[in-house]
This record gives sequence, structure tokens and C-alpha cells, in this order.
Amino acid sequence: MMSRTVADVESLWEAVDRHTAAIGSKLVGWRHHLHAHPELPNRERDTAALIARHLCSLNLDEVRTGVAGYGVVGVLRGGLPGDRVVALRADVDALPVREDSGVDFASTVIDEDYPGGPFPVAHVCGHDCHTAMLMGAAEVLSDLRSELPGTVLFVFQPAEEGPPVDEDGGARAMVASPALLDPAPTMVFGLHVVPLPTGIVGYRVGHQYAASCLVRITVRGQQTHGSTPWLGVDPMPPAADIVSACGQIYRQVPAASPITVSIGHVEDVGRFNVIGDSVTLWGTVRCLDPRDMDTVRDHLARTAEHMARAHGCTAKVDFLQDVPPVDNTPAWTAATLPTLRRVVGEERVKRTDATLGYDDVSEFVNAFGGVYVMLGCQDTEYVDGVLRAIPGQRGAAANHNPGFYADDSILATGTRLHANVAVDHLTGRIDPALVEQPGPPAF
Ligand SMILES: [Zn+2]
Repeated sequence: MMSRTVADVESLWEAVDRHTAAIGSKLVGWRHHLHAHPELPNRERDTAALIARHLCSLNLDEVRTGVAGYGVVGVLRGGLPGDRVVALRADVDALPVREDSGVDFASTVIDEDYPGGPFPVAHVCGHDCHTAMLMGAAEVLSDLRSELPGTVLFVFQPAEEGPPVDEDGGARAMVASPALLDPAPTMVFGLHVVPLPTGIVGYRVGHQYAASCLVRITVRGQQTHGSTPWLGVDPMPPAADIVSACGQIYRQVPAASPITVSIGHVEDVGRFNVIGDSVTLWGTVRCLDPRDMDTVRDHLARTAEHMARAHGCTAKVDFLQDVPPVDNTPAWTAATLPTLRRVVGEERVKRTDATLGYDDVSEFVNAFGGVYVMLGCQDTEYVDGVLRAIPGQRGAAANHNPGFYADDSILATGTRLHANVAVDHLTGRIDPALVEQPGPPAF
């Protein structure tokens, strides 16, 4: 049942736009500060403090800190009666990458103490943008508190990129926290900036992102002098063979079902004249269809163990930090699309291809319902349906690339998306139960 008249809600939409425009320079200021001061997963201390200070300044009903590490949850109870609870989610962590974006607020931060480090640190996945957008949405919606039915949870999540392997954290730990369940969300919304054209909202029905897990393969031999390999057992050749063999595993799952196995880091304990006793391979497994994950793991473990044995070594294979795919159901997607189209314009909402990226926002969306979308932030364009960099502009740089950049203009768009989705869910306009689906969804 609609709890507000159309005229009431239209005035709320206008107020969201007006308030967002009024804080435009604040959004940019927060984003640039966060960008220049990035923090790695489970170490987001200053980021969390900045967020908490801001939320406290808005006189929210509650600001819960220390949630699953450095997570922060702000609670805004609207002034009108309502049972709905919308959780707006942003991830806040950065990556161990040396930035090469060329912006004047680029990071020069080095984390000296991080496990496995020291590491350069940079927001090359755009989580600085996500954080600033949600801080903005909290400000905008808190100004409209008396007009809102129901509750808004502002969920600032740490460690989306995965905590150090010996630590817990991220979305799964947050979902398990009472801080997220009081009151329990009836919808979760979030977005991720990507190299689509600036201002374009991309969505996918079904699995927005892939299932993922971290793989660690430890190959053990026997240490010896580099001049006398026959007096030991060299773990390097089987490690190299295992890396190559990862490229064959895709042939063990149906060809129409995308998977990928990538080894991104090789850690050994030898030196130029020492054959070390072990080599550890660190990588990631992605499957668009999570049902392929067990098959891929089995093949990968068998391949690694037997290749190691062929060289007289052993291999131990561990799968860690598994994340399910984000499931944008047809009903939730159809229910949310009118809002997305109203906010950015019909022609700027595009259905996009599957990707093998992952995002642990799936833990929220799959548990409570909701939608996760992509927001374009780069100088790219579609030519005959194919995405390409606009000639002569800043180019296209993928997330996690040292040259990743995001145009500041999308900050206000992100704040408006968050705030409008919140208004529309709380007022009953986004509700999967209202979507009629007599046949295949018409979108
Ligand atoms: Zn990301």
C-alpha cells in the first residue's frame, strides 16, 4: 500500500535533488580526502572515524561503530510510521596498488605494517567514491527525516577486497552482527563505479557478479644450493607447471559457462643461488554460475597435487574467502528499474554483460533482497554497441588498474541514486511483490 500521495513523494524527490546539489562541493571534498588517505582491508581506522564523525554531526538516531572491524552503521528513523527498512551500502577499503592516475589528489600512501607488506595503497576500485556518495545520502535523507516513513540504515562496510587471510571481516562478518539486524533490512541497495560511460547505470538480471574464492597453493620441496639441484627437490618447476595448467581448467566446465583461474602472486623463499624449500601461489577462482565452483576446485586441487608429485614435491591447496554471486532477481530488478530510470534518465540505464568481478555485497543482497548496479565513471562511449574509450580523452582504465580514475560528476549521481531508492522503497514504490510477472520479465 502506498503510504504517501504522489504529490508528497514528488516533493521528496525534488528535495533530494535540491539537497544533493547544495552539498556538491562537500561530496568532492570528502572523496578527494578519502582518495588521498586510503586504507587497506581491515585497517580502515581513519576512514571509519571520518564517517562516524559525519554521521554523528547529522544527529542520526544511532551511529554504530566497530561493526565487524571498522564497519559503521548509521540508523535514521523516519518521522512517519512505516515498517520498511532500507539498507544503503558502501564499501570503504582500498587496494595494495601504486596509483598512476595522474590526478592531483592521488595517493602516495605506503602501509609499512600490513601482513606481507609494505604496500603502496590506493583507491583504484573507487570505494572512495562509494563512501562519499553514501555520506552524502545520509546528509540528504537526514534533512528529510520528518517526511520519511520507516528506517534507513547507512552501511559502511570494511574489507570488501578481502581481509588478510588470517583475519575475518567484510560483508559476511557484518551480516552476522546484531548491528545490521536491528531493525533487519527489507531491501539492500548499492552500486559500484566502473569504466562505463560517465553517468550510465548498468544492471544485470540474475548474477551481477561472479562467485569467487581465494586459492592458495603451497608447493613443498627440499632446499639446496642453486648449483646442486640434484641434492634437493626444486619446487619451482612444478609451481610453474601449475600456473600454466590453470589455463586449461576452463575446458573442464561447459564452454558457455564462464570461469577464470588467475594466479596473481608468487611467493618463494629462495634467492638467486638458493633453491628454496617452498613456493606459494596466490590466486583467485571466479565462476559466473556458482554450481561450477566445486568442479573447478576439484580440478585445480587434483592438477596441483599431481603435478607436484610428478616432480617429487607435495602441494597443499586451500580455498579461502569464498563469496557468492550477487543475485539481482527479476522481481527486485523490475521493481527498482523505474527509480533508476527516473534518476539518471531512461536512455542512461543499460542492461550490461556479465562480468567475472566479485563483490561481497552479495552477502547483503542475497540475504535481505535488493539490487546492486554499476555506475559508469570514465570517458568511454558505446559505438555500435561496443564500449570503447572516447578518442583524445582520459581513456578507459579497469578497476584495480594503477590508472583507474573516476569523474567527480558521478558523486552527486550516486547520492541521488541512494536517496531516491531509499525514498521509493520506504514509500512502497520499490516492492517486488508489486511486480506482475505473468511471463518472462519485460525489461
Ligand atoms: Zn570494488
